[in-house]
Amino acid sequence: MTTPQQELDRQTDPAAPLLEVEDLEVRFPVHGAGFLRRVVGHVHAVSGVSLRLSERETLGVVGESGCGKSTTGRAILQLVKPTAGSVRFQGQELTKASSSAMQKVRREAGMVFQDPYASLNPKLPVNDIIAEPLKVHKRWRDGGPERVAELLRLVGLSPEHGNRYPHEFSGGQRQRVGIARALALEPRMLVLDEPVSALDVSVQAGVVNLLAELQERLGLSYVFIAHDLSVVRHISDRVAVMYLGRVMETGTREDVYERASHPYTQALLSAAPWADPRQERSRERIVLTGDVPSPVNPPSGCRFRTRCWKAQDLCAQEAPQLVDRGAGHPVACHFPG
Ligand code: SF4
Repeated sequence: MTTPQQELDRQTDPAAPLLEVEDLEVRFPVHGAGFLRRVVGHVHAVSGVSLRLSERETLGVVGESGCGKSTTGRAILQLVKPTAGSVRFQGQELTKASSSAMQKVRREAGMVFQDPYASLNPKLPVNDIIAEPLKVHKRWRDGGPERVAELLRLVGLSPEHGNRYPHEFSGGQRQRVGIARALALEPRMLVLDEPVSALDVSVQAGVVNLLAELQERLGLSYVFIAHDLSVVRHISDRVAVMYLGRVMETGTREDVYERASHPYTQALLSAAPWADPRQERSRERIVLTGDVPSPVNPPSGCRFRTRCWKAQDLCAQEAPQLVDRGAGHPVACHFPG
């Protein structure tokens, strides 16, 4: 248990990370049929996830769909309530924060969603969409219209675009509007949940480059959630690879992409295309057999064992901890390398 003094020390320690997630768990109840709709099980969406994010850093969180990466992002911002674990942002524990304390946190930590069309109110012009957080947080009277115009320029749109509605924009432009809205309150951190995966490949690079420019200019920190390994590689300083609700491997971008040690990371990387045609021709593919098991009833021991070609008896008996076993970075595998 943390004492008040330890909590104070952590809040005032300049070397403390901006975001610390420890042993995060998110479980959703599964209800049975019938009138009473009793709870018959739980979806183990996120299990024992620990992450760190420093100032001006980008942490890429990567994995197949259903691996719990988006739920992790939402749980960081308390948009879904964690079942257990700790989320500290700027030294403040968010899992126990009151709604008024979370209101203040939302000025400092925003979110950009995957589908810009679904996350923007189609009935409002873009000016009103971007103005909304300024009004909710009582910043509108203090130069609100000028701030909206500034935000539009910041994301590469013109203030004249402000009178248009979301359907009048392309997908890339709509995502720029979503980013402008997330920046309205001058946050220090953004959780970006698959921010480019709904966009054409041709416009993805423009949005990723914009995010990199904004980070440099505004000193932002990002949790960048994606299933596309090449996008994560492009933007991330550090990377966490998730499978079935757990972090399998984490480290710097070079650790994960050049010295992958977990069989799952190796399989993911072997399936990703290379830009260099010679490397692409000599690429050895590791084909994973079977489907991702149900998160309602995950496998005992290592969650990857039902698809892992290196699995041994121990893998079914004991869940591997995420520790450095000689690879130079943490890996959750009994037999890495
Ligand atoms: S612990 Fe075993 S099953 Fe899991 S990834 Fe390592 S070798 Fe494969």
